[in-house]
Amino acid sequence: MKRILITGGAGFLGSHLSKRLLEEGNEILCVDNFYTGSRKNIYELLDHKNFELLRHDITHPLFVEVDQIYNLACPASPIHYQFDPVQTTKTSVVGAINMLGLAKRLKIPILQASTSEVYGDPQIHPQPETYWGNVNTIGPRACYDEGKRCAETLFFDYYRQHNLEIKVIRIFNTYGPNMNPQDGRVVSNFIVQALKGEDITIYGDGNQTRSFCYASDLIDGMVRMMNSPKEFTGPVNIGNPNEFTMLELANLILEITESKSKIVFQELPQDDPLQRQPVIDLAQNKLNWKPNIELEAGLIETIKYFKNII
Ligand code: NAD
Ligand code: UDP
Ligand code: UDP
Repeated sequence: MKRILITGGAGFLGSHLSKRLLEEGNEILCVDNFYTGSRKNIYELLDHKNFELLRHDITHPLFVEVDQIYNLACPASPIHYQFDPVQTTKTSVVGAINMLGLAKRLKIPILQASTSEVYGDPQIHPQPETYWGNVNTIGPRACYDEGKRCAETLFFDYYRQHNLEIKVIRIFNTYGPNMNPQDGRVVSNFIVQALKGEDITIYGDGNQTRSFCYASDLIDGMVRMMNSPKEFTGPVNIGNPNEFTMLELANLILEITESKSKIVFQELPQDDPLQRQPVIDLAQNKLNWKPNIELEAGLIETIKYFKNII
């Protein structure tokens, strides 16, 4: 049994990770400031004897005793990370420094939830880990993209300078139950709109692409990464290489929900990446991981969840 700290543990991915690691017999210390996360996500875990919840903002130092750290704290959807961009960068950068300082004092492994956004609007397609990316440093997405890039830099400097055991994963668009319905991400938006009979809002012409990974597949890759040999630091892409246009996604959700919602087109946000697809050879070779749940099956489960909460 390990005592595991999960920052952002009350968020979408953090709640799934907390549940999975509790089921494996570990003790969980969930740290969250509830900026985008919710007690509802972890409601069923609150009474578990091995689950502890601490309301705390990781931009402040944290002194606790644990065996592993998963650093997931950070708003992840464009509307939330752009709402208070300075706080977003602070969470990524100052938060990473504090969690790395904690890991250094305790001499324990620490995993960073990085993102495909480090590739920006990619000019290489699909994206391998060796691609350095194409990010606008002064645009509205930079608070998140550059914050996450700097966090990766800090992880690798603590590794080189302090011999810390680091694990960096680059998460590609992930969806599933426990997504916040007001999150503004494409999968939750389209499902909520379809279920309520509201217009489906496609930004731009809908030909931009994303590759969507189901939450349980992602969590499996994340846990495999934490438990991989010490020498393997990553960064490693974790995502599902099946690529879809936003128009295809909208039509699939309309079909599954049997909704009569209309598709409407709205302005494309600035710097919105045109295409995104992970190369996952490294995860396959080093972690023996690949996703198993395809989009339609994952959407059916996610739609069930949203039907329940709406
Ligand atoms: P989420 O918004 O549901 O979860 C983030 C959690 O962090 C929330 O519970 C929020 O309250 C908490 N948080 C934010 N700032 C904090 C702070 N300063 N101190 C303490 N807690 C704080 O998002 P998610 O989708 O679960 O994302 C989790 C992590 O994975 C994030 O770091 C995100 O950047 C990364 N990621 C997610 C995706 C995806 O598609 N879901 C893709 C790439 C990367
Ligand atoms: N830190 C923390 N918890 C700890 C140890 C450190 O929050 O258990 C914070 C500490 O406040 C510092 C940061 O982590 O701001 C970085 O710590 P490190 O030891 O790397 O740097 P230093 O303290 O020398 O600046
Ligand atoms: N998008 C959309 N309609 C929405 C929400 C998002 O067309 O209601 C588009 C968005 O412009 C982007 C894609 O869907 O091209 C994925 O957006 P999301 O915010 O989910 O993730 P990210 O852009 O960070 O990959």
